[in-house]
Amino acid sequence: MSDSVVRLKSLTRSFEQGGVRIDVLRGIDLDVRPGEIVALLGPSGSGKSTMLQAVGLLEGGFGGRIEIAGNDASRLSGDDRTRLRRDHLGFVYQFHHLLADFTAQENVVLPLLVASVSRADADERAKSLLSALGLGQRLEHRPSQLSGGEQQRVAVARALANRPHLVLADEPTGNLDEATADKVLEQFLELVRGQGSAALIATHNERLAQRMDRVVRLHEGILI
Ligand code: ADP
Ligand code: MG
Repeated sequence: MSDSVVRLKSLTRSFEQGGVRIDVLRGIDLDVRPGEIVALLGPSGSGKSTMLQAVGLLEGGFGGRIEIAGNDASRLSGDDRTRLRRDHLGFVYQFHHLLADFTAQENVVLPLLVASVSRADADERAKSLLSALGLGQRLEHRPSQLSGGEQQRVAVARALANRPHLVLADEPTGNLDEATADKVLEQFLELVRGQGSAALIATHNERLAQRMDRVVRLHEGILI
């Protein structure tokens, strides 16, 4: 058994573009310990999103080995991968992908119900997270009735609701103005720390990266 939340060994990914092969990830090794918050830095196009898709078990086509909480993900089939993802991982994207027809509260509750949490527990958990994020008065609002920063806070609550071992965030504050981004990130990190989750957070913002436990950099397809 591995005591890492994530262990990557020689992770590779290539794409074909117009008959040309581009090696985006050229042998990534990474261990993330329980509770550790790691910043994944790299310029646009360096492969941060590609790497998070691999760790999030969202796509195939990767070479090498991906272990999540001691499970060799590459050896799992569809349903088992889905279960592994659901039981261990939470996601925050740059654009929040909230469900437009549902309230803030429902957006957080729905994935919990899918994960077989009882309605009462899901409601309570959603309410307490959204309140901690300053949205106690916004529970019944739909995404279109919320500001960008508020919408991103709902996305943060949704990602943390199931207390995942690992939170994956792809430029979670990338579409917010600087002051709002700082505030949302601050609250995000505090909640992640508070519930003992680990996190892998892609950003191209050096300043925000310095607030995390460790910084790794993607450069020409490897981590430095
Ligand atoms: P980042 O998130 O660091 O900006 P990405 O992981 O999105 O970088 O992209 C890294 C490289 O991989 C880019 O050159 C991009 O064009 C290429 N790439 C990403 N996804 C695909 C895809 N589905 N098909 C072809 N090329 C892709
Ligand atoms: Mg990206």
